[in-house]
Amino acid sequence: MGVLPFRFRSRDVARRLLAEIRLLAKELDSKIRIMTFCGTHEHTVMEWGIRWIMPENVDIVAGPGCPVCITPAAYIDYCCRLALEENVTVYTYGDVYKVPGIRYSLAKARSMGGRVKVVYSFLDAINDAFKQDGECVFLAVGFETTQPSVSIRLLRGKVPRNLKIVSAFRLTPPIMRYMLDRVKVRLDGVIAPGHVSTIIGAGAWSFLPEEYGVPTVVAGFEPLDVLLAIREILYMIVRGVPRLVNEYRRAVSWGGNRLALESMSKVFDIVDAYWRGIGSVPLSGLELKGRYRDYDAKELFGDVDESVEARIPGCRCSEVILGLAKPVECPLFLKACTPENPRGPCMVSSEGTCRIWAKFGGYSILKRMLKT
Ligand code: SF4
Repeated sequence: MGVLPFRFRSRDVARRLLAEIRLLAKELDSKIRIMTFCGTHEHTVMEWGIRWIMPENVDIVAGPGCPVCITPAAYIDYCCRLALEENVTVYTYGDVYKVPGIRYSLAKARSMGGRVKVVYSFLDAINDAFKQDGECVFLAVGFETTQPSVSIRLLRGKVPRNLKIVSAFRLTPPIMRYMLDRVKVRLDGVIAPGHVSTIIGAGAWSFLPEEYGVPTVVAGFEPLDVLLAIREILYMIVRGVPRLVNEYRRAVSWGGNRLALESMSKVFDIVDAYWRGIGSVPLSGLELKGRYRDYDAKELFGDVDESVEARIPGCRCSEVILGLAKPVECPLFLKACTPENPRGPCMVSSEGTCRIWAKFGGYSILKRMLKT
C-alpha cells in the first residue's frame, strides 16, 4: 500500500485523539476547565473549532497570553505624551498601535501630529533612531520571547544613545501563580505556551503540577498538538497523576534558551509589575539594570504610573484575560466593541481573545451561546 498523503493521516490521527478524549471525558466526575495560556493556542482552538467538538464536560478557557492586552494603559498614555509634548519619536509594534490608553491610543496621537512609527522589530527602531537627531523611545511590549531582541543588542552595544527603552516586558509563570493563589481561578489543566517555553524551557512550568496539582502540557500550535495536549491532560486527571509533559519537544527543551536567559539576567532586574485590569503581580516585570540607565526612558522622561487604569464602562477584558468570562459574555462584544472600533485591549491584538473570537465565528458564536 502506498503512503497516504499527510492531510489524510492528520485527519485520522485527529479522529483517534478525539475518540480518546471522549472516552476519557466519560470517566470524569465533574466538568473540567483547561486553560490555553497563549493567544496563539486560542487562535488554533477557534480556527479549527476545537472548543465546539469537546465533550460537554470539558471546557476550554483562554488565558492571559496576549502581551498587548495586559500592558497597562498608562504606558500608552506615557508614550502619547512623549510624542505629543516632548517631540520624541515613539516606536511601537503594530499590535500596540491601536490599543486604547487612558486618554487615547498611539494611533490617535499620531493623527494629532505626534511622531509615532510602527516597527516590526527592535532592530527597525535602532536603524531608524540612527537617522534621527532627537530623542526616540521604543515601547517594549512582550513576554520572555520578545526580550532577547532588546537585551542581546544592549549587551552588544548596538543601541544608539538617543534611543531609550520603555520596558513593559512581562513574565509568564508569575501570572499563573497569581491566578491560582490570589484570584483563585479554578484550573484542572493548563496548555502551557509554546513560544515562551522555547526561551524559558518546559521545566519552568513544573511548579504547576508539583505545587498546585495541575496537569500541564507544553504544546505546539498545530491542531493535532492541541488535541494531543487535551488528551494528555484528561489522561492525567482520570489517572490522578498530575505531571508536566513537554509535547513540543521539536522546539522546546527542558532548560530553555541559555543565551536568551543569560542576556535577560544581565540586562534586566525582575520586579513587581502591573498587568492591565489585574493589578500588581509579584516579580512579573523586567526593569533595566542600573548600568543600562542611560537607555531607560524613565531616567530622562520620568516614571510611568502603571497603576492608573483605563475605565471602559461595560468592558470585561480583565475577566476574559483571567479565563473568568468568555468574550460573548461582555455586553460590548461585536456591538460597541469591534475589530474596526475596539473599546478594550482584547479586541485589538491578533492574540487578543475577543479579536480571535470575532475573527472565527463572530456573530454566529454570539447567537449560539446566547441561546444556550
Ligand atoms: Fe473588552 Fe471589547 Fe472584549 Fe468587551 S468585547 S471584553 S470591551 S475587548
